[in-house]
Amino acid sequence: MKLTFWGAAKQVTGSMHLLTLDKGYKILVDCGLNYEQKKLMTEDVFSFPFNPIDIDLVVLTHAHIDHSGNLPALVHQGFQGQILCTAATADLTKFLLFDSANIQWNEYKQKLHKAGKSRKRSFISKPIYTEKNVQQTLERFVTLDFDKRFNINSTTSIEFIEAGHLLGAASVVVEVKNDKGVKRIGFTGDLGRNHAELIRIPIAMKNLNYLVTETTYGGRNHKSSENSEDELMKFIEETCVKVRGRLIIPAFSVGRTQAIVHTINKLEKKGLLPPVKVFVDSPLAVKTTHVYTHHYDLLNDEAKQFLKEHGSLFDFDNLFWIDNLDGHDELMEYKDSCIIVSAAGMVEGGRIQEHVKNNIQNPFSTILIAGYCSEGTLGHRLLQGQKSISIKGRDYQIYSKIAHTDVFSSHPDKDEIYNYIKACENDSLKKVFLVHGDEGNLIAMKETLEERRFKAEIDIPEMGDEFTI
Ligand SMILES: [Zn+2]
Repeated sequence: MKLTFWGAAKQVTGSMHLLTLDKGYKILVDCGLNYEQKKLMTEDVFSFPFNPIDIDLVVLTHAHIDHSGNLPALVHQGFQGQILCTAATADLTKFLLFDSANIQWNEYKQKLHKAGKSRKRSFISKPIYTEKNVQQTLERFVTLDFDKRFNINSTTSIEFIEAGHLLGAASVVVEVKNDKGVKRIGFTGDLGRNHAELIRIPIAMKNLNYLVTETTYGGRNHKSSENSEDELMKFIEETCVKVRGRLIIPAFSVGRTQAIVHTINKLEKKGLLPPVKVFVDSPLAVKTTHVYTHHYDLLNDEAKQFLKEHGSLFDFDNLFWIDNLDGHDELMEYKDSCIIVSAAGMVEGGRIQEHVKNNIQNPFSTILIAGYCSEGTLGHRLLQGQKSISIKGRDYQIYSKIAHTDVFSSHPDKDEIYNYIKACENDSLKKVFLVHGDEGNLIAMKETLEERRFKAEIDIPEMGDEFTI
């Protein structure tokens, strides 16, 4: 059996691991968009490092686009098998893939518009997939429950284990029987934290022989306290109570937005929220939020209890969901103190850029970055403490406060990853592959495991590395 790393190797995005069984059966675990190679994301230059027709089965760990975003391209290029995932992942992925196709199509149209009738027009290549390809992809989804073994064939089964991280997110155990015995390979997908809003905590996979684990924060521990209500209230008080300012929170539409809005709702139910309006300006968040209530059974106990008591995880009188452009335009004109949650989280594109531009010169506003921002993104640049910043070619002096919190981070920190790997340790565990992290975080976790005399071998695979296991 062979394991090949075709994505998230020494980087964070583009998760894609290929397991080739002894008889040639090929299982692809995740098929994510590679943000680090975004320039290659058009139809004429994009290609998979294998023939999609040869893949027999895809297993999708969770909906995030860096794990699911290339599935329509895989189907478009000939993949004909099933895509296994949990029901919540299927529901969330549907909205994310249509959104991804739309973004690509809009970028394509903008380029055509810019080129006009010039010769440049003929060099503009099409997006890698369309809405039609997304529809064809969704038809291949087969949903499975957590903790139930599913036989793929007479020798191979898969099982989804709770990963935390996002509603429906699963770690995957692939179990393969042959003449020599049984082998169990575990893929964490993305893991969650030991305290998270709405979602459950990750469960370690048992009796593994090989573990492929995410290592996003392998080198550092989160700084913020574990109490998201206290942490958020601190910023609300400073911005909307002490002064009548505006709190702008960039947040990813799926996962982060729901965690933040639920936390604000908890504050409201406790009578702690000042009488300011709270706007969620994100069409994708509006579409995906109901999935949380629909998959009530996957929520953590605290969230279930909250839903039982209050009838809604999110809604309260002063909360306004905005999914159309008219609403967005009206919000841009709204001058009163308020809280605005909008996408995207790293402030790259999306409606949040408009809100940042609109408030960055207001000394009473706070822009609260609520998570990780990759280098080069506007979110990352805002956190550098500069006095001015360029947004879409125009310079702005920064008068607003720029703040950061990692209390809503959906990835485990160094100690949590270490404890997870440790919980997977057993006498038969031969090797741990560290993926889904930049080089610094990967090396830091490798060193931590070695210093603490972890018994199994630790490997940091390169893109394209193949291992016989
Ligand atoms: Zn994720």
